[in-house]
Amino acid sequence: MKTVLKKVLIANRGEIACRILRTCHDMGIRTVAVYSDIDRSTMQVSMADEAYALGGTAPAESYLRQDKILDIAVRSGADGIHPGYGFLSENPDFAELVVAAGKTFIGPTGVSIRRLGDKTAARKLALTVGVPTVPGTLEPLQSESEAADQAREIGYPVLLKAAAGGGGKGMRVVATASDLSSAFRSAGHEAQGAFGDDRIYIEKYVSRPRHVEIQILADGHGHVVHLGERECSIQRRHQKLIEESPSTIVDDEMRAAMGEAAVKLAKAGGYTNAGTIEFIVDADRKFYFLEVNTRLQVEHPVTEMTTGIDLVREQILVAQGESLHFSQEDIHPRGHAIECRICAEDPANDFLPSTGKLLAVDPPSGPFIRVENSVRAGDEVSVFYDPLVAKVVAWGEDRPQAIERMLRALDEFVIAGIQTTIPFCRFVLRDPEFVAGRLDTHFVSERFRARDLGVIGSTTAEAAAIAAAFMKSQTAAWMGEGTFDPGATNGTAWLRQKRDFLR
Ligand code: ADP
Ligand code: ADP
Ligand code: MG
Repeated sequence: MKTVLKKVLIANRGEIACRILRTCHDMGIRTVAVYSDIDRSTMQVSMADEAYALGGTAPAESYLRQDKILDIAVRSGADGIHPGYGFLSENPDFAELVVAAGKTFIGPTGVSIRRLGDKTAARKLALTVGVPTVPGTLEPLQSESEAADQAREIGYPVLLKAAAGGGGKGMRVVATASDLSSAFRSAGHEAQGAFGDDRIYIEKYVSRPRHVEIQILADGHGHVVHLGERECSIQRRHQKLIEESPSTIVDDEMRAAMGEAAVKLAKAGGYTNAGTIEFIVDADRKFYFLEVNTRLQVEHPVTEMTTGIDLVREQILVAQGESLHFSQEDIHPRGHAIECRICAEDPANDFLPSTGKLLAVDPPSGPFIRVENSVRAGDEVSVFYDPLVAKVVAWGEDRPQAIERMLRALDEFVIAGIQTTIPFCRFVLRDPEFVAGRLDTHFVSERFRARDLGVIGSTTAEAAAIAAAFMKSQTAAWMGEGTFDPGATNGTAWLRQKRDFLR
């Protein structure tokens, strides 16, 4: 069935809400934002045509409230809902409720989310269609003794994983049989807390793997294409920090094989809309299916920059019932793109969450830089949501040029008031092994040491400096002085000078 969406509700917050709003506006679609109590004056609210309060602050009281979101969709007259990533994006019941309410869900059907979003279900499907999977169990484990039997059969080291997992949660590496019992209990406990589902399964722990994933797009008329790979091996605690495309280990032959496997699995699951098939690649460049993310991915801009395709636009067109307007032969990725996730975490302090009021935010710009930012000076970064505050994406003709531009952009980026992962990203992009493309998922734990950071002064020192600069400018204005000193009056310019000095 074909529809034309006129008004879309974005059931999310932060950078991804802003990113989706922008494409809707490009397409002439009106937008509805929703917000929690502490998100009242955020960018997503000011950018949208309309904004409605969800109430509450914790996700369970706000962005996870399906009833409230559906009610707002009805009240605002939205005809489509985009879930973004995280929150309700991979919840099949929500996808079905949206449809039952007569609205369009901008994402896959509930049925295909169940088939592919659940990790053990997807592993079984991959096996039946001949897509290589990491050796391990195909069903969640019933007991600790079953876990021990299976682990012995698979061979240590093994990895315990949550069937409902995401964001690296509910995962435990088990080196020997004596560690299994406590790891099994703690993984189950963590999974229950994070996903309300304690089912755990086992995979062989692949040593020194690389994470390579394939972006796919599928319409409701049987067409499925892949848009090449993204390498996401720069991870900490199984969470991605820096992503790029193309991967330095993937050649044309491997890309074709991985792309074919991804398309085959998507077809088998009756998948529609945008999705990502994740693989790990071992030291022999053999790839194994990991999981499917049945949604838009955090790192999707990397693919947009190399293919020239706006993935959110394609998601909307597919949701409207249209056929993909290109085929596999029309897709020609060009150049190299890198994304750095800028998180409100202190890399000098074991990546502890860093919260508080933002005193200055001055994002980079310029040639071949794309910034997905969601914060402004005066905003409060809280502990309630994902620490991701912005993403910087750089494009270059080749990898060295993309790295060069990314470093320039990171140097320009000023965020004052909290600590961020900017210094960490700068460290990685300058590391000779990263530059040489020699990396795996152990890169961060093995190579990164906080003492290597050329960190700028503490948050308090910066805050004091900005306050001092502000006072000085106010005094000058009050005294009617004609001389204007941008170094003294502009807090962000001042910060830049200070950083140059310390570098
Ligand atoms: P990506 O590959 O898109 O980066 P991540 O695993 O980093 O995916 O997850 C993206 C966001 O979605 C993060 O905020 C993460 O915490 C959240 N997330 C992922 N899976 C789930 C899930 N099953 N339930 C709730 N949130 C999730
Ligand atoms: P999540 O749903 O949390 O994203 P994934 O299954 O995608 O979980 O795995 C996240 C990361 O954990 C991978 O990118 C990889 O670094 C690591 N990982 C997952 N499975 C394995 C495995 N079998 N062996 C080694 N590392 C793994
Ligand atoms: Mg994953």
